[in-house]
Amino acid sequence: MSHDLNQVPFFDYKTFFSAERDRILELIDQVASTGGFIMQTDLALFEKNLAGLCNANGAVGVGNATDALEMALSVYNLEKGDEIIISSHTMVATASAVKFAGAIPIPVEITPEGLMDPDDAERAITKNTVGIMPTQLNGRVCDMDRLLEIKEKYGLVLVEDAAQSLGARYKDRYSGTFGDSSCVSFYPAKTLGCLGDGGALLVNNPDMLETFQMMRDHGRSKSGEIEIWGRNSRLDNLQAAILNDKLSRYDQAISYRRSLAALYYSRLFDLHELKLPPNPLKDTTVFDICQNYEVLVEKRFELQQYLRERGIGTLVQWGGKAIHQLKKLGFKQELPKTDDYFRKCLLLPLNTMVTKDDVNYVCDAIIDFYRK
Ligand SMILES: *Cc1c(COP(=O)(O)O)cnc(C)c1O
Repeated sequence: MSHDLNQVPFFDYKTFFSAERDRILELIDQVASTGGFIMQTDLALFEKNLAGLCNANGAVGVGNATDALEMALSVYNLEKGDEIIISSHTMVATASAVKFAGAIPIPVEITPEGLMDPDDAERAITKNTVGIMPTQLNGRVCDMDRLLEIKEKYGLVLVEDAAQSLGARYKDRYSGTFGDSSCVSFYPAKTLGCLGDGGALLVNNPDMLETFQMMRDHGRSKSGEIEIWGRNSRLDNLQAAILNDKLSRYDQAISYRRSLAALYYSRLFDLHELKLPPNPLKDTTVFDICQNYEVLVEKRFELQQYLRERGIGTLVQWGGKAIHQLKKLGFKQELPKTDDYFRKCLLLPLNTMVTKDDVNYVCDAIIDFYRK
């Protein structure tokens, strides 16, 4: 980007639009001119392509991924006192979806990679546990062999928060396809971002597809009859048209992201003050779509400051708080491994607007910081 000025914003929202301005404006003109704003062909086409991308049975475009999670849980008739295990390293949306679906979110520890720790998840199971909700964080997929084993052993529901992992895989199976349904998010900074809020349910259980299609549209069937209690959470047809266009170039976008992560890895792996995610190009179990590049660092505050002075934006995810640390929401768990992770974690800039020169510039600055 404007590299002569040495600026590497964490995520450049203006360029996100301007880099594709002509294409987007033309699409908006085309679609809006047909008068098709709500539940039209662009949405149907996008849903079909989205499901196709990850071998899901179907996809249902909704207002955002948080709604999708709540809807995914709502079909299980959760009762007061039911517990659902979540990772403590996730967005508050995962926990609030559980809460508003009528159950209690139980945050558990994470692995050194920041993903739900299956051993701790199993330890947290009580007679009230009805479900397990792993977050496929940063574009990576949890240890699904172990989590599916736990799901089977205790007869639990499994709903993935796949908001950050569209197209990621675990041993050739796509993120979001391990349970009956899951969510993906099209928030602008996600790997497939739209111009505002947007999300989808990925639906694997064919018996649930029609239910979710009605649920996001006031409970109406295709004939207009009210069949169930529903809500209004529909992905705009205009957003779907824009997303469908981006989806056709999604593979290239992901390859590019992976190449940036590999570059970070090759430049930084031997710094002992840093702990990096695995090199995506060497990992044979997980296909990482590199939504985020999250590293663990020594002297985080000072490093962030040093990078900021050099025009480099970084971010500590979730405003720096894990779920169990949200005491105002009533969480009482003690999760020392997660506490330790949250003292050190930091996101470095990684998205399709970041260039290889940018990554090298960021790495030079990080190396300088620890050398001085
Ligand atoms: C972004 C995100 C969400 C919420 O997505 P929205 O579309 O903004 O509702 C939920 N969980 C995780 C892990 C996310 O990153």
